Amino acid sequence: MTRLLLVGAGHAHAQVLRDWAAAPRPGVQLALVGPHALAPYSGMVPGWLAGAYRFEQIVIDFAALARAAGAAFVAGEAVALDAARRTLTLADGRALGYDVLSLNIGSTLHVPALDGCTVLPMRPLDRLRQRYGAVLDALAREPARGLAVTAVGGGAAGCETLLAVLARLRAAAPRLHLDARLVARGDALLPGLARGAARRMQAALTRAGVEVHAGRDFDATQDAPPGSLVLWATGAQAHGWPARSGLACDDAGFVRIDALLRSPSHPEVHAAGDCAAWAEPLPKAGVFAVRMGPVLSRNLRAALGDGDALAYRPQRRHLALLATADGRAIASWGRASAEGAWVWRCKDRIDRGFVARHAPR
Ligand SMILES: Cc1cc2nc3c(=O)[nH]c(=O)nc-3n(C[C@H](O)[C@H](O)[C@H](O)COP(=O)(O)OP(=O)(O)OC[C@H]3O[C@@H](n4cnc5c(N)ncnc54)[C@H](O)[C@@H]3O)c2cc1C
Repeated sequence: MTRLLLVGAGHAHAQVLRDWAAAPRPGVQLALVGPHALAPYSGMVPGWLAGAYRFEQIVIDFAALARAAGAAFVAGEAVALDAARRTLTLADGRALGYDVLSLNIGSTLHVPALDGCTVLPMRPLDRLRQRYGAVLDALAREPARGLAVTAVGGGAAGCETLLAVLARLRAAAPRLHLDARLVARGDALLPGLARGAARRMQAALTRAGVEVHAGRDFDATQDAPPGSLVLWATGAQAHGWPARSGLACDDAGFVRIDALLRSPSHPEVHAAGDCAAWAEPLPKAGVFAVRMGPVLSRNLRAALGDGDALAYRPQRRHLALLATADGRAIASWGRASAEGAWVWRCKDRIDRGFVARHAPR
């Protein structure tokens, strides 16, 4: 039996499992490692934070997907990889061998400790549920008069999650006074997206009563007074263990990949999505992980001796749909932008469709 090990319940692996369910390959022992069976779909996280969706509506059930694909779902977190010995170690000490390995573990955030504040890191997404639930419960138990809410990061995640959390808090506690701000290191919001989208986002933040501090670093003394809620949504950072595995990684610790999504140092290892470093840096956005999925699936089959591998070609432009938590959304495509309730309806339909496609049948 040849062993194919998928690590991480990410967007690309969801598609690999779907593909495997449609066309299983005999003689392959397939397993997927992930800390939780239910993995949130990032595009719907702001909607869930705002209260537009229940958590169950935004998750992909990887245990069910694995079952349908004839794969084992291994509940666990990888903490080390020995690429030379082809051995993956889990947090509970289990060691898993493989012949072909695929990494789709996303990215993380290194968040500073802030005394007296509640910090909600926006990655990894699967831990956010518990922490956000605790914030909402605490507010329901002990209603406060005022709350300072600061988002750190001027990208899509920082802007969307701040608007979402403010909408949810206002709905839950209409008398609560919110002192909201967003701190961004860059001079402009939404770097990499259309300028018009950034202008529209600035206007949405202003409408929601957010003070935007662009062009400076977060400063705990002025931005996070004791008792405040801090939403940490700075740029994606690499998990630490791949850089210690012997795999070729870039300076930031992301796993280098070639056009076939393979590690140049260990061709039996593939990587996709946020954890992978393409020759030219790609935005750390779910749409890239999604587009890599079918190519990854085909190339894993090729690595097992089934057909030819395909080169991945990143899209030059990508559509970004950003929820503003007021029944509307902003679209960015190349240099063009648009906004309105119809954009939200469009986003809602696309996102629900993605999750539904991966639901157990
Ligand atoms: C709030 C927010 C909203 C966003 N909205 C959008 C959007 O609308 N559109 C968009 O394109 N992008 C969006 N993004 C970016 C998007 O989340 C990421 O780019 C995307 O999730 C990356 O997909 P992935 O498949 O690489 O990894 P992920 O979707 O992050 O999946 C990685 C998986 O690996 C698992 N994992 C991690 N470490 C380990 C380990 N050690 N062992 C085993 N498993 C592990 C995790 O539990 C997770 O299930 C958003 C990000 C945030 C924070």
